[in-house]
Amino acid sequence: DPKTVPVFIPGRMNPDTLKTLQERFDVRQGPPIDQMSESERAEIRAVALMGVFTAEMMKQLPNLEIIAHFGVGYDGVDAGYAAANGIMVTNTPDVLTDEVADTTIGLLLNTVRELSRAEVYLRAGQWEKNGNYPLTPTTLRGRSVGIMGLGRIGLAIARRLEGFGVSIAYHNRSARDDVAYAYHPTLAALAAAVDTLIIAAPGGGGTDKAVDAAVLQALGPDGVLINIGRGTVVDEEALIKALQDGTIRAAGLDVFAREPHVPQALIDLDNAVLLPHVASASVHTRKQMGDLVIRNLEAWFGGRPAETPVPEAVKAGIKQRG
Ligand code: NDP
Repeated sequence: DPKTVPVFIPGRMNPDTLKTLQERFDVRQGPPIDQMSESERAEIRAVALMGVFTAEMMKQLPNLEIIAHFGVGYDGVDAGYAAANGIMVTNTPDVLTDEVADTTIGLLLNTVRELSRAEVYLRAGQWEKNGNYPLTPTTLRGRSVGIMGLGRIGLAIARRLEGFGVSIAYHNRSARDDVAYAYHPTLAALAAAVDTLIIAAPGGGGTDKAVDAAVLQALGPDGVLINIGRGTVVDEEALIKALQDGTIRAAGLDVFAREPHVPQALIDLDNAVLLPHVASASVHTRKQMGDLVIRNLEAWFGGRPAETPVPEAVKAGIKQRG
């Protein structure tokens, strides 16, 4: 009976999802692991979370079977350690792809056409007082776009961009055989070939600070950087410098290196559009993500294969309970 399965939820959780989890499982929301008694820790069989779950945390829960992550990017979860120790990790791919791609297009247009700033201008009464908002020095017209991370989300962004009549290229660790977009085997080569770089790659060790000073230099003085992947993919210090000194033109960021902290130097910049990690954040899409978290837990404890195991779990041959 799932009602008797103790599911630990550290930190925040989508309200709809939390409510359903509470109806269907024995949800524990506190205390934090290091303040639980040994018997409390031993009871926990599952974790549902958005955010960070380290190997240290897993080690303290001897009967943990599954970590159901709310979100497709699970760089906060040590999936390698989990896989090596027979713990299932699931994430929420696909159900958020279109929403995130839509938001990316919105952020790109906002960045090159200064829509947020133009609205602030109107609201401050400056239209009436000072006349028209200045013409934007940037536009999407004539741009060549490079996508780092042409996966589920990157491809959905590319498909949308086709409708805008811009050229599209990409960089992954390996080329896809199902698209005709130009492939660049290195990020530096992609940045040199385009003037607009969209990051849709995951966080973690393989991408840490991949967008560094040299990549920004290669993007050039008309360059626009859009990041909806993870803040850790960009060297934030180098980006701030590049925006300050004109190495690149502008940036649109939904993700940051140390969320929810955003460096004051970024906030002070006029040529940056800054969003508080909202790419998938609609009631509609968050419900789809939450439902998938719940389906994964129900499948697992119902003795069926989890619906969306992460690649580390698949590779380790972890499928279902027992
Ligand atoms: P996918 O796994 O489908 O795509 C990831 C892509 O990144 C693949 O094409 C992969 O290709 C490429 N990639 C991975 N590692 C590297 C690397 N080291 N260098 C270059 N390319 C790399 O994931 P999704 O498209 O579903 O999601 C992508 C990411 O978007 C998530 O991991 C998450 O971080 C972020 N995201 C952000 C959201 C937000 O709210 N801002 C919402 C949802 C997702 P290859 O394996 O060939 O390298």
